[in-house]
Amino acid sequence: MAIFTQLEEFGHEEVLFCQNKDVGLRAIIAIHDTTLGPALGGTRMWPYETEEEALADALRLSRAMTYKAAAAGLNMGGGKAVIIGDPKKDKSEALFRAFGRFIESLKGRFITGEDVGVDVNDVEYMYMETRYVCGLSPAHGGGGDPAPVTALGVVQGMKACVQEQFNATSLEGFTVAVQGLGSVGSHLVELLVNERAQVIGTDIDEEKVRRVVDRFGIRTVPPDEIYRVDADIFAPCALGAVINDETIPQFKFKIIAGSANNQLAEDRHGEELHRRGILYAPDYVINAGGLINIYVELEGYDRERALRMTRSIYYNLRKVFEIARQENIPTAQAADKLVEQRIAMVRKLKDMYTGQGVHRMRWETR
Ligand code: NAD
Repeated sequence: MAIFTQLEEFGHEEVLFCQNKDVGLRAIIAIHDTTLGPALGGTRMWPYETEEEALADALRLSRAMTYKAAAAGLNMGGGKAVIIGDPKKDKSEALFRAFGRFIESLKGRFITGEDVGVDVNDVEYMYMETRYVCGLSPAHGGGGDPAPVTALGVVQGMKACVQEQFNATSLEGFTVAVQGLGSVGSHLVELLVNERAQVIGTDIDEEKVRRVVDRFGIRTVPPDEIYRVDADIFAPCALGAVINDETIPQFKFKIIAGSANNQLAEDRHGEELHRRGILYAPDYVINAGGLINIYVELEGYDRERALRMTRSIYYNLRKVFEIARQENIPTAQAADKLVEQRIAMVRKLKDMYTGQGVHRMRWETR
């Protein structure tokens, strides 16, 4: 495994391998880019079959965090940690506290929280050893469930989409197909109904479908039919890679705007949407509400501030669409461009000496 070659390729700053045999800890912390601020990203626990797989996940996910935080306008960089282990069998207080001590050793260069396989109780064990965690329960000053905030961000993103695609100022009268009626999807349905949009929903879990239908009386279809319903907007809120060779030919949608991560199976599917005139709201820009909620927690949680910052997703997407229009490129590429421009701009700002930092004077080090 040529580690440095991989780090160069992805542009990482640092990777920390953490081990503590007594508690069975084997973890990797990847810090991608801290130009904008401390690296922020969750910790995932997963039974990776090989160390290569664990490292590849940490590198890929930490890089994605740099893009997500930068696109949301936050002063945070990107990082991610992975713990190698089975969350059903290998969790213990000792393991998470040992891991918390590694986080502490980075002195705020990396701030972490929940992700797949790691829940709020595990984060609270880490919190016993380090301040550099977030996603705590409201009882510990945390922001609570991020899903309603993420759903609000998606609605704001949809508004930017209908403005771009139809020159419309509200979602009233548009039909939205929501895939996944879980935490984000169910809140999204509520907000859309309040906006007087028509909603068609689906989920593989019949109980979740029934709950949403009982509350909002929306129309539903079986899971595999959602790709070909007659709707203006498709909101993927379940799985990744749902925009692919099989689904695109079925689309009658004019807009894709949902919360799921990694919606495009491959980059070329973003190009295909562009060719077909379907406006795609890049996933990491539109689903940043949950991340914004966590960022606000770091400053001392204030729900109003989290909601206000999340509304700016509307403007972030407008900027992405403007670049895509001017350069005639897919929106996913335009989003990457916007992020890279912002990071380059801040890097340039840092050129100016402000009295501290690299150029330490003799008397400053005493
Ligand atoms: P969730 O697990 O609460 O909901 C997902 C729902 O999708 C479940 O109800 C599940 O039954 C359903 N589902 C799974 N496969 C399906 C299929 N083939 N067809 C239809 N439905 C299917 O998760 P969530 O927190 O609502 O997150 C939804 C998506 O948004 C995920 O991709 C997640 O990574 C992403 N996301 C969530 C947040 C957040 O704040 N929760 C933030 C950013 C991104």
